[in-house]
Amino acid sequence: MNVAILGGGQLGRMLALAGYPLGLRFRFLDPNPDSPAGHLAPLVVAPYNDPDALAELAAGADVVTYEFENVPASVADTLGGSAPVFPPHAALEIAQDRLSEKQTFQALGIPAAPFAAVDSLADLEKAVGTIGLPAVLKTRRLGYDGKGQFVLREDADVARAWDALGGVPLILEGFVAFERELSILAVRGRKGEVAFYPLVENHHRDGILRVSIAPAPDTDPRLQERAEHIARRVLERLDYVGGLAIELFQLGDELLANEMAPRVHNSGHWTIEGAETSQFENHLRAVCGLPLGSTAPRGWSAMLNIIGTLPPSDAVLEVPDAHLHLYGKAERPGRKIGHVTVRTDDPETLRDRLEMLTPLVLG
Ligand code: AMP
Repeated sequence: MNVAILGGGQLGRMLALAGYPLGLRFRFLDPNPDSPAGHLAPLVVAPYNDPDALAELAAGADVVTYEFENVPASVADTLGGSAPVFPPHAALEIAQDRLSEKQTFQALGIPAAPFAAVDSLADLEKAVGTIGLPAVLKTRRLGYDGKGQFVLREDADVARAWDALGGVPLILEGFVAFERELSILAVRGRKGEVAFYPLVENHHRDGILRVSIAPAPDTDPRLQERAEHIARRVLERLDYVGGLAIELFQLGDELLANEMAPRVHNSGHWTIEGAETSQFENHLRAVCGLPLGSTAPRGWSAMLNIIGTLPPSDAVLEVPDAHLHLYGKAERPGRKIGHVTVRTDDPETLRDRLEMLTPLVLG
């Protein structure tokens, strides 16, 4: 089967790496000529809304998918004529806008922080009056890795936050004093079959994911059930096909949904070594109409993102059970350029390995 993918970043590269053993072939579209996926498969270099480039991408494709949700939603429509596009267009549109994301959670009865749309300073003042402080002001679109966010702690922050972000559509959210951040990775096939990975515990610094631990330690099975229930509602409402990640805040027994990604997700990279079937393979199985693979974990895993600067490969690989993934990207502050996964047979060894890897990878 020929798979066309919008976006040629590291997620696309890892999709191709997972798909080649299944005999799949890939073609990517990305405006960046040095995209990580382009080292592995044909790459059409053009903006996402270039109709000729989209036609070239989709020529001969059996299915179209994406590894990046900020492609213009109209593109999925244009491509839909030539081959099926999964995940569905509606998921893309919802995930592109934090307001529609929160409204979707609300409509499905999924708990989330209180929120309000903000388009003016007056809206912001009113929203702060209702939601209270602390609160987080975020751009509705194109925010990722903590970019386009401002935490308001005192009244004087209202004007500061507006100066920093005002002028584009915004959303104010109540600040959640969470105990920890988790994510649920789910996959739904073309016949409606659904599978879930175990909850993942995520640690961020400066809004960027640094470490994921899977399965999330000390997790009550009821929390897993709750997370699966949340993901299932979204999957079924959208008649979803493919991998879906939902980021969650844990407060005691409660889970609040923060955001969703209609694609493979950074907090699922551990599944390459740490699960029977990786999120990348399962996403491809789903969009290609193949049976889903087991999502069972293989022992205990941790994933550390390599951000900005490369650690010495030999030092990382000297750590037993460590697996190094480099994306072929140049070093640049704040940029995700690789990750390390460590997979072990028991949680104590995982802790030891993490202690060895943390100074090497996270600095
Ligand atoms: P996001 O881009 O929405 O994933 O936000 C990036 C990070 O900011 C999250 O992983 C949280 O650590 C933090 N954050 C986002 N929204 C909230 C919130 N409403 N309350 C507290 N922390 C938040």
